[in-house]
Amino acid sequence: MIGPPGLWERRRDALALLRNAPAAALTDIDGTIAPIAAKPSAAAVLPAARDALAALADRVSVVVLTGRSAATARAMIGLDNAVYSGNHGTEWLVAGERSVEPAALPYVERVREIAQAAERGVGAAGVWIEDKEVSLSVHYRNAPEPDAARAEILAFLDANAADMAVREGKMIVEVRPPVALSKGEAARSFIRRERIASALLLGDDRSDAEAFAVVRAMRGAGEIRAACAAVSPRDAPPELLASADYVLEDPADTARLLAWLAEEV
Ligand SMILES: [Mg+2]
Repeated sequence: MIGPPGLWERRRDALALLRNAPAAALTDIDGTIAPIAAKPSAAAVLPAARDALAALADRVSVVVLTGRSAATARAMIGLDNAVYSGNHGTEWLVAGERSVEPAALPYVERVREIAQAAERGVGAAGVWIEDKEVSLSVHYRNAPEPDAARAEILAFLDANAADMAVREGKMIVEVRPPVALSKGEAARSFIRRERIASALLLGDDRSDAEAFAVVRAMRGAGEIRAACAAVSPRDAPPELLASADYVLEDPADTARLLAWLAEEV
């Protein structure tokens, strides 16, 4: 199968987008600008990517779309002039001001309940439950038997969190409020609010595929110019590759591209 072309080779396409003001670069963190770490708390944004985003933020909107909390995203990237959309589009951190999407607020208590129940109820070794207030991540990257751990997590959530939106990512199961909030909705609302003319999207997992699909639909409707790049294509879920225009080999390749764009734009 011939997949999407490499964005480094086609980097002038990305440059043309970012020169078409008002432009935005929307990026995921883990697996996109930060190599995946065995423990999520050990993951770090590549310094070259962070420096490039800092430089780009003077010229274009830099929007971080992540499943992490917005505060954690801000701590990992360290940029005051970026916009952070955390917890899969359910919260925002803009110029130091945090807000939670009203539709997600009623589920904060429910997320805590499920997190506490999962601590007691999921027995598989190597599982780590991360309560992010507006959503919950159940990580099994460190499980000695990941398939068994995944099955136990899904069965537990099926029995105990059927009222929530349960989504799978790479070695992770996410529990989110059952409302129409996602990275895709966050991208759409930012683009419309800021009247963005062109956008570059970078991501590596299923939740990024949702954002790619939304922005490609906006492109199809003539609302925006846009390109979507899937990072780490060998490890990518099929729906991500299916909705990508380009690929980047790994987070280091993303950092190289961002550094070049920061120089040229
Ligand atoms: Mg990711």
